[in-house]
Amino acid sequence: MKIGCPREIKNHEYRVGLTPAAVRAYVAAGHELFVEEGAGAGSGITDEEYVAAGATILATADEVWHEAEMIVKVKEPLAAEYSQMKEGQLVYTYFHFAAAEALLQACLERGITALAYETVKEADGSLPLLKPMSEVAGRMAPLMGAFYLSRPQGGRGTLPTGVPGVAPANILVIGGGVVGYNAARVASGLGARVMVLDVNQSRLEYLSHIMPANCFPLYSDAHSLEEGLRDADIVIGAVLIPGAKAPRLIRRDHLSLMRPGAVFVDVAIDQGGIAETSHPTTHSDPVFVVDNVIHYCVANMPGAYARTSTYSLSNYTTAYGLKLAARGVEACRGNAPLLGGLNVHRGKITCLPVAQAFGLEA
Ligand code: NAD
Repeated sequence: MKIGCPREIKNHEYRVGLTPAAVRAYVAAGHELFVEEGAGAGSGITDEEYVAAGATILATADEVWHEAEMIVKVKEPLAAEYSQMKEGQLVYTYFHFAAAEALLQACLERGITALAYETVKEADGSLPLLKPMSEVAGRMAPLMGAFYLSRPQGGRGTLPTGVPGVAPANILVIGGGVVGYNAARVASGLGARVMVLDVNQSRLEYLSHIMPANCFPLYSDAHSLEEGLRDADIVIGAVLIPGAKAPRLIRRDHLSLMRPGAVFVDVAIDQGGIAETSHPTTHSDPVFVVDNVIHYCVANMPGAYARTSTYSLSNYTTAYGLKLAARGVEACRGNAPLLGGLNVHRGKITCLPVAQAFGLEA
């Protein structure tokens, strides 16, 4: 199959859909690879590396979209890319259709097959192509919190690690799933006193077995939340209720319980955020202050560490991508995870949650 990888055009998006290792794997499987000139630059990957892996470099996105039967990307196609999608083309990327009606219409009208990373689902219910970005965002969260906790950034001026004779910071992680676990690991590694709240008892049991002694997994209820907020220097929002908006666990009046200059990193902002006071921010203007609490609510945190994110995402997407490339959309037959990823095919919506988001039947 002819596989194309255009440069991402979303503002401040530095990731790219394929690494040289992925190109090599597709080429070894007998496919022809086309990469847009400079596509890897934001992730520190040169055109020469792609060529060495077996790809052909094309000068423009138009040529890549025109040549390829299958496109591998990171972000959803933007309006400027709609007209480049061609009938029967397989587009393998994040789509997040439920929040993007114009994109859905464009994909239906252009007759493409949309295989969405975010709905590829394994038998145990896990979402393997969302996980790598949750790992990056989770590990970033305490680091962002630590940065904004410094006095020049308006924070309390507490060094999260502590020093001999002076206590470290308290870090409260709300939600102990992929983001929460990764955040708690890094926070524990920094030497902070860490509290992780979750409502899932078996998850709490698991965390209590594997986390170090400075991390305390606790049941999440109104009481533990308020106690945690009172003590915290950094609060990390990491709750997900699949398919729903994030619950607003932190009310405005909760902020007055918190220490002035505390930092709140709301990773769950892409689902609306877990605080009444949260609203999405960007890497160019990441924080705002409400009632003396610094809010960091960047909706695409992994984009900041594009190189790590690109390599991790590509590690996960390539195994599924190779199956898709081998048989095209037929690969979804008898493969439940890939079938779960099939959102649009031949002008029809083929994913129930996407259809339901628009009041339709799939
Ligand atoms: P996950 O499903 O692995 O974990 C969510 C956890 O929240 C689960 O363990 C669940 O039991 C717990 N939970 C549910 N209700 C709770 C409550 N009331 N109190 C405490 N815990 C509760 O999800 P995840 O992969 O960790 O993702 C978390 C959020 O981070 C999602 O909204 C995801 O989209 C988002 N995310 C954001 C970015 C970003 O750049 N901002 C990047 C990656 C992921």
